[in-house]
Amino acid sequence: MQVLLKGICKSFGNTEVVRDLDLEVQEGEFLVLLGPSGCGKTTALRILAGLESADSGTIHIGERNVTQVLPKYRDVAMVFQSYALYPHMTVAENIGYPLRLRRVGEEERLRRVSEVAESVGLASMLERFPRQLSGGQRQRVALARAMVRTPSLFLMDEPLSNLDAKLRGQMRAELKRLQHDLGTTTIYVTHDQVEAMTLAHRVAVMNAGTLQQVGPPREIYENPANLFVAGFVGAPPMNFINGVIDEGVFRSAHGSLHVPGGHSGKAVVLGFRPEDARITEDEHSFAASVYSTEMPGDETIVTCRLEDTHVVIKAGKEFDAAPDTPIRIAPDPRMVRFFDQSSGLR
Ligand code: ADP
Ligand code: MG
Repeated sequence: MQVLLKGICKSFGNTEVVRDLDLEVQEGEFLVLLGPSGCGKTTALRILAGLESADSGTIHIGERNVTQVLPKYRDVAMVFQSYALYPHMTVAENIGYPLRLRRVGEEERLRRVSEVAESVGLASMLERFPRQLSGGQRQRVALARAMVRTPSLFLMDEPLSNLDAKLRGQMRAELKRLQHDLGTTTIYVTHDQVEAMTLAHRVAVMNAGTLQQVGPPREIYENPANLFVAGFVGAPPMNFINGVIDEGVFRSAHGSLHVPGGHSGKAVVLGFRPEDARITEDEHSFAASVYSTEMPGDETIVTCRLEDTHVVIKAGKEFDAAPDTPIRIAPDPRMVRFFDQSSGLR
């Protein structure tokens, strides 16, 4: 089902938590709302579910204006970070509960519970109680319970954040596959940019209650709309160097770089991704010194010091240099991005 938020505002007391939020989600889309803790993601999702009312703005789910509609009539299923399972009910009873509430007959209920349990790999655990399950299994019960009544919209609020890193990776893949198979429009909230980039068809980046950019993961990564998005997405994030562009040359206190023309005499921030720079002898580059090196596996992460700032680049796994070794860094001119120093806009 298509979802349309228009001009949604919400304050708690004097604090504006969601500011004039416009968002359109396509039928069948997996949209991830990404932003730091406290930026208003949960509030926006709760407004969409009807658990919180907006101060202004409208919400459409499909053709329907649901702005004033009670949560239970919005046909959405929400999955929370805390699984919120009933401890005294078995897995089967937990999953079937939404159907019981809707007075679905026992035969059909059991059939749908076993179908959905099969699809999330819980078929052999239907008689267990939540305390007899691992964290990942509990989260799957919560998902199955959301799926069982085939809602027109899934809303998920950091559903994987209680899991350990390995399980989170597995569940991410399972969730992506499930959403693909079901084709149910899904809005998923997270502060974890890796999760957002791997799960989403499109990512909506939010900061301090304001939507910053909406686009496919690649677009967000390659063409961030502003300094906030550039610095939030990517691990390690984009590097920034302050300087001035003049006649196709970017000049900073640390060195210069030939760049594509088009700007002149303007104070800018040059941004580049860690993988888009190399260590060089070329004079058109930035002077730095090695601050530290890390070798997590197939590459070496080199943190470099440029007087007052640090930049991080990725070098081959064989790269090694002692701290304070002088080096020169050359970002690939085709991959650099420029941001306005005052507005932060690209
Ligand atoms: P996120 O999910 O992005 O971490 P939230 O939407 O939970 O952020 O919260 C955004 C801001 O609104 C936070 O500063 C939070 O403290 C505040 N907030 C959330 N819910 C309430 C509430 N019921 N009353 C007062 N302030 C709230
Ligand atoms: Mg939250």
